[in-house]
Amino acid sequence: MQSLPKKYNFAEIERKWQQTWEELGIYHFDWNDTQHTPFTIDTPPPYPSGDFHMGNILNWTYFDILARYKRMRGHNVLFPQGWDCHGLSIEIQVEKEHNVRKRDVPHIKFRKWCEQLIEKYIAIMKDAIVKLGCSIDWTTEYRTMNPDYWRRTQLSFILLHKKGYMYQGTHPVNWCPRCETAIADAEVEYVKRQGELHYIRFQVEGNREQLLIATSRPEFIPACVAVEVNPEDDRFKKYIGKKTNVPIVNRTVTIIGDEAVDPDFGTGVVQICTYGDKEDVKTVMKHKLPVITLLTENGRITENGSKYAGLTVNQARKAMVKDLVAAGLLEKTEKLIQEVGVCARCKSHVEILERKQWFMKTRELTDNVEKAANEVLWYPDYMKTRLIDWARSLDWDWVISRQRVFATPIPVWYCNDCSEPFLAEEDWVPIDPKLEKPRIDKCPKCGGNVFIPEIDVFDTWMDSSITCAVHAGWPDRKDWHRLFPADVHPSGIDIIRTWAYYLMVRHLALFNEKPYKSCLINGMVLGSDGRKMSKSLKNYVAAPEVLGKYGSDATRQWAAAGGATGSDIPFRWPDVEYGRRFLVKLWNVSKFAAKLLQGFVPNQTGTFVLQPLDKWILSKLEKLTQKVTDAMEKCQFNIAMEEIRNFTWHIFCDCYVEAVKDRLYKPETHGEERKAAAQHTLYEVLYRVLQLLSPVTPHLTEEIYQAIFADFKGYPSLQISPWPECTLSLADDQAEEQGNLIIAVIGEVRREKAEKRLPLNTQIKKLTVYAGNQKTAEIIKESKDDIVGTCKVANLEVLAVKGSGRELAEYPEVKFVAEYER
Ligand SMILES: [Zn+2]
Ligand SMILES: [Zn+2]
Repeated sequence: MQSLPKKYNFAEIERKWQQTWEELGIYHFDWNDTQHTPFTIDTPPPYPSGDFHMGNILNWTYFDILARYKRMRGHNVLFPQGWDCHGLSIEIQVEKEHNVRKRDVPHIKFRKWCEQLIEKYIAIMKDAIVKLGCSIDWTTEYRTMNPDYWRRTQLSFILLHKKGYMYQGTHPVNWCPRCETAIADAEVEYVKRQGELHYIRFQVEGNREQLLIATSRPEFIPACVAVEVNPEDDRFKKYIGKKTNVPIVNRTVTIIGDEAVDPDFGTGVVQICTYGDKEDVKTVMKHKLPVITLLTENGRITENGSKYAGLTVNQARKAMVKDLVAAGLLEKTEKLIQEVGVCARCKSHVEILERKQWFMKTRELTDNVEKAANEVLWYPDYMKTRLIDWARSLDWDWVISRQRVFATPIPVWYCNDCSEPFLAEEDWVPIDPKLEKPRIDKCPKCGGNVFIPEIDVFDTWMDSSITCAVHAGWPDRKDWHRLFPADVHPSGIDIIRTWAYYLMVRHLALFNEKPYKSCLINGMVLGSDGRKMSKSLKNYVAAPEVLGKYGSDATRQWAAAGGATGSDIPFRWPDVEYGRRFLVKLWNVSKFAAKLLQGFVPNQTGTFVLQPLDKWILSKLEKLTQKVTDAMEKCQFNIAMEEIRNFTWHIFCDCYVEAVKDRLYKPETHGEERKAAAQHTLYEVLYRVLQLLSPVTPHLTEEIYQAIFADFKGYPSLQISPWPECTLSLADDQAEEQGNLIIAVIGEVRREKAEKRLPLNTQIKKLTVYAGNQKTAEIIKESKDDIVGTCKVANLEVLAVKGSGRELAEYPEVKFVAEYER
């Protein structure tokens, strides 16, 4: 047994154990182990942003607590780590950094820049994950930008195409004119913006009547394909079927009726344009209206906009309003707060464009998604509806092609002569069609031998939505189904609609099986002002600052204890400070134990006689173990932490240790057997506390374990010691009742000393306790050793009768009188 240094140096201790654990290889998943049940964590590969923030700390702490807990439960834990590299955000940064647009440089060069930036960011994030002490198996590390990962993404596309889930089509899609790419519904954010509602006069054909149309997008007038009213609207139903002139561009369109028109919005008459918004898309499809493409891919007006061609949307809107005023067709303009869709990456206004794209048939899987979501265990349970509601809300299939560079290539070519598309064969991947030809001589359809590569690439979610299978070893390991579905998919509340959904829909389509058995949801981190933490709100705290100041163990306690799983968690420095103070308390009691356990040999039955207070805390320890185990099983980390910290701090340190110090220090007064009983209890309780704490605070608990317990217990690391069995049969309610009374006596005497401003070690000449009855008197007498020792009593008299004196807080029938030395 080693003694512990006076001060607890977290930086040194944490670095030391992180290195040692890595050297010991205790986090390596053993692929050949068939004896221990595997536990697989579908670590979501993060998008390397170069900034590991407190939200990431919260995520990874959750993952890691679970990994460490399951390892102690005897599982062969797979805790992998990948990096979801591709995506728009990196491209936008590279464009800014090099002051270019993606199409200005060869795509290989552009890709290289993206890869370099990503590597820089990965290094920063990896460093933070290591410093947080995450028990990741780094031999599993992967990058979705590497061709070996492309292989998986491309293979899954080929397989899904064979199963009929992938198709090409010209459909309206969400389009970011800034990023010049299609984006999925999940990448559109909705914000409230100040806009204007313009009231414009349309001339009804064949008579002199005018219809007043309210629109917030007058620039779309050149793309107007119909005017629409509600058929129930008595003011306007007579116009249905008539034609009206479209102002400025002088075309005629038909007036149609549809219940979707809200008679109370604007004037009750609306123009249908291709495409001003999603409602237009529905109407065009339903009424089979023509499409006039008004916008180019970079958000300018096309030739179809005649005199407005070449203008941006905003310029065109101003010009149109001016022209309407000049023509006397603008009745009035009102301010309007409207909800508009913006690109999640660059915040530009999202337009709707028609362009040939690849789609995955996701909507036909919605019932399966709902069924599978109901089979998954959600922590917390109510999160499940978020996934189901999202799946049910989707209007369109998932557009999986993007018009970008830094992404997995779509393994497709087209025949130059007949435009027939060819997919790569399963064994051709990874392949970049822009660099390699298809391995066929001629087009089987027309015999042509010139092929055009697909230049579109995959949505980055195509990479990251197959991780459950990939982590399990698909497609290379024959036994990958052993690790599939993943035991848990951990996810943030904000990405249920993307990550949890895409995983679900993709794996269901590929394998006809749900990808994860449970889903662990974390909330958002709020700033100290209660708003979501964000750099722009000035309530932002950088993770390296917290880790640098307090270390991992204190920071992890904040994450674990900050709130119920799935709820938003505020970041407050005092919470981390509280975590640190708890560690100091644990360190101090461990130093005390290391000193008082010198020469102690555990499990020497027959050498000690447990005293009531020993039985008291050992019983409470069993109940604590039960509570913590229950909470861990339900991923209620905050409850587990509260129980352990409360027990350790108040029951163990403040009550028990204080009450047995005298027995430990003075065996000559109390007897060796009673000292040995206290040593045995101290040893057992401390070890158990370390075990229960170790998933949350792995470093300090390991340090203490190695100094005091490793020689006897023999595990190379506390991290792989078996989680304590819950033996509630060892709980002893009677011992607890008795112990509570003794602790109350000791506590009240100490409180009186404190109130009288006497040092705690002040001698009491005589302590007379009026127990009130025989039974209570017996209990107190049985522990008189600990009372006398702790309260420094020269002469203790316990009487079974009622008396007067200071009353015990929770035992009003018990009173005492203390006579102090003068
Ligand atoms: Zn954008
Ligand atoms: Zn052909």
